[in-house]
Amino acid sequence: MSAPRSVARSAPNVHTTAAERLRRDGQRYTASRRSLVEILEATDRPLTIPELLAERAGIPQSSAYRNLALLERAGVVDRVVATDEFARYELAEDLTEHHHHMICARCSAVSDFVMAPRAERRLDEAAEATAAEAGFQVTSHRFDLIGHCRDCVAAA
Ligand SMILES: [Zn+2]
Ligand SMILES: [Zn+2]
Repeated sequence: MSAPRSVARSAPNVHTTAAERLRRDGQRYTASRRSLVEILEATDRPLTIPELLAERAGIPQSSAYRNLALLERAGVVDRVVATDEFARYELAEDLTEHHHHMICARCSAVSDFVMAPRAERRLDEAAEATAAEAGFQVTSHRFDLIGHCRDCVAAA
């Protein structure tokens, strides 16, 4: 079986959209905020703040926390919850592509994956059937796999 393909991140208007969403929130798309978006655009998994800072020199840690919070509130980035205490960040799904996460319960590594369209449809059908019983209307879903990553399996 081949590895799941990675998530498309080449939205041409990501910076225009980021600037618009911040403006709606009364915020400017500053150079530091743009740097954070560029780093998240160039990576293939959600990053912790230390990982984000390690990607590019000159981003002060104090402003990174505040800028990520502003970007999250404006709907430019999403926070991903893993199995450790570190918040991880990725571009909002509507700026990239619908995807899921594999989260390692041993080392907390998080990776993205895209499911085949047929598998997505089955997941949606199962979710809708369950939600309908509760009178709940499904608009989207989150689905993370928890387990042991390749490296941790090899080290066991
Ligand atoms: Zn692991
Ligand atoms: Zn899905």
